[in-house]
Amino acid sequence: MPHLDNMHPVRILVVEDERKLAQVLASALRAEHYDVVVAPTGEEGFFRASAEAFDLVVLDLMLPGRSGLEILQTLRQRHLQTPVLILTARDGIDDRVRGLDLGADDYMVKPFALAELLARIRALHRRGRPSDMLRLKAADLEVDLVARRATRTGHPLELTAREFDLLEYFLRHQGHVVSREMLAHEVWKEPRRATPIDNVIDVQVARLRRKVDLEGRERLIHTVRGVGFVLRAGEP
Ligand code: CA
Repeated sequence: MPHLDNMHPVRILVVEDERKLAQVLASALRAEHYDVVVAPTGEEGFFRASAEAFDLVVLDLMLPGRSGLEILQTLRQRHLQTPVLILTARDGIDDRVRGLDLGADDYMVKPFALAELLARIRALHRRGRPSDMLRLKAADLEVDLVARRATRTGHPLELTAREFDLLEYFLRHQGHVVSREMLAHEVWKEPRRATPIDNVIDVQVARLRRKVDLEGRERLIHTVRGVGFVLRAGEP
């Protein structure tokens, strides 16, 4: 059960105006024994985040009244360091970058898998220095999620937006096998696979691999036959 050291349950504020999503989030979090408060508008989210103490905030950016970015900005201006995970729309890359610039600690793009969100919340809560989450590493590969920049041994990799998202997903699941199903769902945002996109995925992974696993460097992206892919350092 998630508790802080002084044994009060972990308190989470969910600011989300889509009622159904807010309900799903709240019940999933409560099932994991978090203490959850839902704010359905920007105004209420702002009010509660300013007036009460939370251990973590899940913040939608597109809100009626007051935008998530405004709420985040105000919190940070008041030096409230509560970890904030922002929820952004599929095409809201600019918002995502602005959110991270304004001091968000992590983000998820809608639609997302609930299990993934819960894992991120656990990770955010566990880590002492949330800003470390915005830099992902494997061997000499480094990815800065705020600048959306990837380097190997300090040399920048020229990645498309999709390749960057793919690499980020691999890094977040480092050492774990990632299936094409997971990629279709989480990177391509195709929750229902009316048209299988396995070929598209394979082509993109091949392109990414050519850019990341340069000649003479340690190979990081491996194919797991019949299953998917894994990003792992320290393999021959
Ligand atoms: Ca919204």
